[in-house]
Amino acid sequence: MNAPTSFPPEPDAPGRPTPRPGILGIAPYTPGKATIPGIAAPIKLSANENLLGSSPLAKEAFKAAAEDLALYPDGRGGALRATLADHYRIEPERIILGCGTDEVFAMLSQAYLGAGDNIVQGEYGFGAYAIAARANEAEVRFAPERHFRIDVDAMLAQVDDRTRLMFIANPANPTGTFVSAQEIARLHAALPPHVILVLDGAYSEYCLEPDFSDGLDLARSASNIVVTHTFSKLHGLASLRLGWGYAPLEVAEAVERIRLPFNTSIAGQAAAIAALGDTDFQARTLDLTETWRPWLIQQLAGIGLDVVPSSANFVLAGFPTDGARTAQAAEAFLAARGLLVRGVAGYGLPDHLRITVGLEAHNRAVIEALSEFMGDVVRADRPS
Ligand SMILES: *Cc1c(COP(=O)(O)O)cnc(C)c1O
Repeated sequence: MNAPTSFPPEPDAPGRPTPRPGILGIAPYTPGKATIPGIAAPIKLSANENLLGSSPLAKEAFKAAAEDLALYPDGRGGALRATLADHYRIEPERIILGCGTDEVFAMLSQAYLGAGDNIVQGEYGFGAYAIAARANEAEVRFAPERHFRIDVDAMLAQVDDRTRLMFIANPANPTGTFVSAQEIARLHAALPPHVILVLDGAYSEYCLEPDFSDGLDLARSASNIVVTHTFSKLHGLASLRLGWGYAPLEVAEAVERIRLPFNTSIAGQAAAIAALGDTDFQARTLDLTETWRPWLIQQLAGIGLDVVPSSANFVLAGFPTDGARTAQAAEAFLAARGLLVRGVAGYGLPDHLRITVGLEAHNRAVIEALSEFMGDVVRADRPS
């Protein structure tokens, strides 16, 4: 046997399998933490999941789908497609179904991006967009945000001949802010027609502002807008991986050519159909957020944190940048009490934590712990 060679290998070592340019430069997506060492059942407020769980009707549909485990799904998801078309009054053939909206972003990127192309997103844009772009050798351009909000003019300033996709989560993650319907319309009007504007509506149902729209109406007659939605948040079906996009017909048809033949499952399709019909569960979810989001914002501000105004099912809180009351120390303090929140240093926000709006007991536990954290540190700061 030969002696083992050194690891990691030289990137240009001859005769070794080598990924395409850029692949090894991608930082893998880091999901919100799900476990705390030594704590059996932590409260997970780190991934913006639905703390009410999921619709009982969706669970029944999921269980019934166990009878069909041996079968391949309808790859085009005909029944779900028809249900979505009816629910949103859109054309079924313009719908793209994906293994989560993540896959819709990945398929759009694969179909429209190549080496030398670029995408434009906000300074704090959702991590999945950049991964999909870089996987296709495209450049990621970041437009500065103002007060944690997408700045339409800064986005437009990043666009050039090689821009193929522009991504806006509205409301945004991790900031929680939204862009008004007028601003989106102004952006679209100024955008060159070769650029696809992707409006990611993962949190759109949680935004109650009168001047907000998910963009579906604008998309109906546009040749370069894709609006995406997910079953992961409002509908509480993150585990089943179902997202969708409403695209111009030509875009939907392009993506259809590269879609994996069976990218959504029978159980996922069935649960999604049931969830769409469960207006009671949707109302309870929205009611929970509408009740506790303002309370959390007010309480966090009350203990001296900088809270970014949120239109989503989470809030972003800013901590002092020096001393003992940093975001990192707060995250550890909360974890020691079984509370998982999301550190967002990876988004260029090392002084913030993102906290999903939970059930009453969760929200109260977070505020109690953070009051203690801020208060204790205040006392500890004082010279004795
Ligand atoms: C959670 C989330 C999604 C949904 O992703 P899925 O792949 O559908 O689970 C999309 N966009 C943003 C900004 C999100 O935070």
